[in-house]
Order: sequence, then C-alpha cells, then structure tokens
Amino acid sequence: MAFQVPPLPYDYGALAPTVDEETMKLHHDKHHQAYVDKLNGALGDNGLDGKSIEDILGSISSLPPIVRNNGGGHWNHSFFWEIMGPNGGEPSGALKSAIESAFGSIDDMKEKFNTAGANQFGSGWAWLVAKPGGELEIASTPNQDNPLMDDAKVKGTPVLGNDVWEHAYYLTYNNRRPDYLKAWWNVVNWSKASEIYEGVAK
Ligand code: MN
Repeated sequence: MAFQVPPLPYDYGALAPTVDEETMKLHHDKHHQAYVDKLNGALGDNGLDGKSIEDILGSISSLPPIVRNNGGGHWNHSFFWEIMGPNGGEPSGALKSAIESAFGSIDDMKEKFNTAGANQFGSGWAWLVAKPGGELEIASTPNQDNPLMDDAKVKGTPVLGNDVWEHAYYLTYNNRRPDYLKAWWNVVNWSKASEIYEGVAK
C-alpha cells in the first residue's frame, strides 16, 4: 500500500500569476514525487506498511528523520494543493467568525500568518491551526514538520498552510518571500478551508 502523489485539482497554470506554471509543475511533479518515493522506500524498514499518513505523523517522535521529512512532505503538499485554487474569495460562515474572534479581523490574521511565514528561518511552513473545539492559532514549523506531529509545539488540525521553502516561490519572487506571502492570499481556496474548519468545530 504505497503512498501516491494526488493529481493536482486544477491546471498547472491555474494559479498564475500568483504561482507560476513552471513552479507548479516542478513543485507537484518533482518535489512532491520525491517525498513520496523516499517515504515509500522507508515504510518497510520501519514497520509502517499499511499505516495511514495521519497515524505515521501522530507517532513521528519515535520514527527516524527520513520518515519525518518525507512523511511530513507528503502530507503537507497533499494539503497544500487542496487549500489553493484559482477562485480566491474571502472566508465566510463559522471560519470567518472564528478568525474575527481570535485575531480581530481577517486582515489581522493574514498579517500574523505572513509574519510567521517571513520569520521562519530557512525552510518551513506557516499554518492556521484549529485546536479541538475550534479555537484558532497561527504557527510556523521548520522543514516538513506540521501540527499533526505528536511533538509539534502547536498541535491541531491545519486549516491553512503555506509552503515557505524557496522552491515554492523563487522563480517568480526570487528572494522576496514577504511578497509571495502577501500575494498567496489571492489563491487560497476558502471554501475548502471552511469545510475543514467546520469538521473540527462542529
Ligand atoms: Mn514544497
């Protein structure tokens, strides 16, 4: 039961100009594929055949770095493709209310999220995380770590996550990570984020 890269739910060029077509091709077909191949190669040796990725991440503290890095890489990218889309929009419903109650406004949340992404030294991710019960928190993680890992500082269900590795933005934005973080909100799939949030907060 090997893991697989899920198909991109839109065209490679669908997020342009915010995320260019070449970046999407390399990121989905090469980077994500490499995480999956290395993860699959490490399953047998670690007694993980047939386990779900969520189960693996939930006991990551007792597994070796190859599983952490590539298991995190597989989950993070599978999530990333889903919470982006060409239609943008704004949050609504329960997620909008929860953001306003936690951060004051949508713009304040975006600013806090962008700061977390900009201040993550080196490679990593910025997250909007829902705690059990629905309380929201902003976090960042190094490398391919994420809030589902049993040893994460901020644990919960990711509602949004942005990849701040240079491979996610360098072709268009070069070294300007803050510009990428600001532009990325144009391609957030808010209906998917709301669906995830409502699943946690129900
Ligand atoms: Mn990436």
